[in-house]
Amino acid sequence: MLADSFGRIATDLRVSLTDRCNLRCAYCMPPDGLDWLAAPGLLTDDEVVRLVRVGVQRLGIREVRFTGGEPLLRRGLEGIIARTAALRPRPEISLTTNGIGLTRRAAALCAAGLDRINVSLDTLRPETFRKLARRDRLADVLDGLAAAAGAGLAPVKVNAVLMRDSNDDEAAPLLRFCLGHGYELRFIEQMPLDAQHGWKRADMVTAGEILAALGAEFTLTPDDPDRRGSAPAESFLVDGGPARVGVIASVTRPFCGTCDRVRLTADGQVRNCLFARTETDLRGPLRAGAGDAELAALWQRAVAPKLPGHGINDPSFLQPERPMSAIGG
Ligand code: SAM
Ligand code: SF4
Repeated sequence: MLADSFGRIATDLRVSLTDRCNLRCAYCMPPDGLDWLAAPGLLTDDEVVRLVRVGVQRLGIREVRFTGGEPLLRRGLEGIIARTAALRPRPEISLTTNGIGLTRRAAALCAAGLDRINVSLDTLRPETFRKLARRDRLADVLDGLAAAAGAGLAPVKVNAVLMRDSNDDEAAPLLRFCLGHGYELRFIEQMPLDAQHGWKRADMVTAGEILAALGAEFTLTPDDPDRRGSAPAESFLVDGGPARVGVIASVTRPFCGTCDRVRLTADGQVRNCLFARTETDLRGPLRAGAGDAELAALWQRAVAPKLPGHGINDPSFLQPERPMSAIGG
């Protein structure tokens, strides 16, 4: 098991497959992008699958989410998913993506064994998308969402981050859109994880604001708390249900006490928290010939000292060196 000293058990592995991206979302990356990780440092497809296998077979990992950067930029994605799906016990397999390119790949991803998908969509206005993501790709994202649903992925979840004076008036329109298409919408509070360190608490659109904006148009009823488990999203029934909307209030209502996640970066570093300031290298030992038992032991030692909380609200908080795109969101 991957246990920490506070009794939490990590069962949900987030694997970043690349730090590269074809968008430049303002809350994530600077306009010119970043210095990408050098190719030789990236885990190969075989190395990714090997570490996922160690997690699943030796450490109790039950869910594997592939993310990035933009995971659809990883050519071997379908193969990695198929090999993950062949593991026993078979983990749940999910993907977080900006949706660009999904029209071409949704069916193959499904056939490979993908169970669930989250597509990020922050705005329905092409001009706002162009400013917020710094690329003119809204139509591609919307097509990608439709392709995911068409391929039979259910439920299709949509992640939205609201930014002050940009798309902060779109909470209700985004929910209306998602209800109309059968997508399940979750808002994520903006976190201090952008490479350019532009996050400001005073500018952040809070969960409270989002819920107030939605409440003006919809009747929201808190969902059964037992359904939440370790899920970060607080869930609400919309107009009596069965449709739901979620809010992930990472900053204003942290849920670190029930966190069950652990992360593997594209260059093979284990992180026990998005906000961790240390990492444990698995790539070096793996390439030096370490066996599965040794890798599992290193991984356990990486998770054990996980801190009780992310500390964003402490005066001494320091943002981690790696930005979200390089950790895997
Ligand atoms: N490129 C893919 C995408 O955008 O879905 C996967 C990686 S992205 C880092 C994963 C999720 O993190 C996205 O839903 C994105 O909106 C969210 N995200 C990125 N930076 C964030 C930040 N500073 N605060 C909150 N969420 C953020
Ligand atoms: Fe790319 Fe996702 Fe970051 Fe946007 S949030 S820049 S799509 S990695």
